[in-house]
Amino acid sequence: MKILVINCGSSSLKYQLIDMDNESVVAKGLVERIGIEGSILTHQPAGKDKFIVKQPMEDHKVAIALVLDALQDAEHGVVKSTDEISAVGHRVVHGGTYYSESVVVDDEVKKAIRECFDLGPLHNPANLMGIEACESVMPGKKNVVVWDTAFGMAMQEKAYLYAIPYEYYEKYSVRRYGFHGTSHMFVSGEAIKLGNLDPKMAKVIVCHLGNGASISASIGGKCVDTSMGLTPLEGLIMGTRSGDLDPAVCQFICNKEGIDINEMLNILNKKSGVLGISGVSSDFRDIETARAEGNKRAAAALEAFTYRVAKYIGAYTAAMNGVDAIAFTAGVGENDIKTRKAICEYLGYLGVVIDDAANDVRGDRRMISTPDSKVKVMLIPTNEELAIARETLRLTK
Ligand code: ADP
Repeated sequence: MKILVINCGSSSLKYQLIDMDNESVVAKGLVERIGIEGSILTHQPAGKDKFIVKQPMEDHKVAIALVLDALQDAEHGVVKSTDEISAVGHRVVHGGTYYSESVVVDDEVKKAIRECFDLGPLHNPANLMGIEACESVMPGKKNVVVWDTAFGMAMQEKAYLYAIPYEYYEKYSVRRYGFHGTSHMFVSGEAIKLGNLDPKMAKVIVCHLGNGASISASIGGKCVDTSMGLTPLEGLIMGTRSGDLDPAVCQFICNKEGIDINEMLNILNKKSGVLGISGVSSDFRDIETARAEGNKRAAAALEAFTYRVAKYIGAYTAAMNGVDAIAFTAGVGENDIKTRKAICEYLGYLGVVIDDAANDVRGDRRMISTPDSKVKVMLIPTNEELAIARETLRLTK
C-alpha cells in the first residue's frame, strides 16, 4: 500500500511516495517555479537516477499531473498506475480552531482551509491548490489533511490565551496555535519509544531547531505548550525570525524609521533572528565559521539563540513539573553538535549529562546523554512526510 504525501508552497510542491508496508520512500521529488518562467520537476526514484522535467507549469494542477506522469514513467517510474496509490496526504499549515486532528477532505474541510486564509496567508491558499489539483487529476482518490496546528490544539486555555481583550479571541480566534505540529507529534512519539518511556505519562520536550525553530512540551504525546503563536513568529530566535519581542519595539522602530507595521513585520520575519544579530547569514554553518574567525556579532547571535532555547526548556520543565526526555531535531538540532552541547550546558540543574562521544554525530537517531543522566537527551531526525503518511493510512485504511 502506497501513500503519496504532498507539501505545496505558493510556487513549489514537494512530494514523497511512501510504501507503508515497510515505511520506505519509493520516490520523492520537488517541483519549483510553478506559475513562473523556468518551471522544473526533479524526480528521484529510490535506487534509480534522478529525472528532470523542464516545461511550463502554469498551475499546481499541471504540476501534479506531471508528478503522476513521472511516478508512472516507463523508465523512471515506480508504479504502473495511480491505482497503486491508495490515498494522498497533504500538509496544511493552519487549521484555526476548526480541527485538532487530521481529517479526510470534504467540502467542510476545504471551507475551513479557506476560512483560515488570513491566519496562514502564505501557505493555506497553496495547500488548498494542491488538494484541488489532486482531486481533479485523481478523481475519487481520498485526500487527507494533516494540520501543522493540530498538535498545539491540545494546549489548555492558560497556555493558548494572549493577555489581550478577550473579544479578539472570540471575534477573530486570536490565540496561540503553534506550528511544526507534525514534527513535534512525530518526534515526541519517537522519543517515548527510544527512551522506553511511559506512553501516557512521559514528559517530553522537543526542540525543533531548523531555519524556523520551535519547542514543545508534551505529556504522553499531548501538547502542553509550544513556542510559536498565532503565527510562526513567536518563541525561539530563528534563522531570520526574531521570536519573542516586546511589541512596543515595533512602534518605536516604525516611528524612528518611518516605516509601517507591514514593513516592520517583514523585518521581524525575514531580516531578524541570527541573521539580524550576526549580519552574516541565517545559516548556522556560516555563523559558526564567522565566530571561529573572531566575528563578535556572530558569537552573540549563537549565544542568544542557545540561551533562548535553554530558557524555554526551563520554562517547559516548570510547566510540566518535570521532564523525562529532551529531543533535538531539524537542521540545526540534528546537525549542529556544538549548539546541542551549548544548550545542554545550561541544564546541569536538571541532572542532564551529555555523552560527548555520542553527541559527536549528525542526523542519527540515538541517545546523546550518559546512562546516569537524570533526563534522557536524544537526537531524533524528524520525518514529517512519514508522519503525514501514517496519519493518511490511519484515516483511509
Ligand atoms: P527549515 O525546514 O526550517 O527550512 P531545516 O530544518 O532544513 O530548516 O534546517 C536548515 C538549517 O539547518 C540551515 O539553515 C542551517 O542553519 C542548519 N544546518 C544544516 N546543517 C548544519 C550543520 N552541519 N551544522 C550546523 N547547522 C546546520
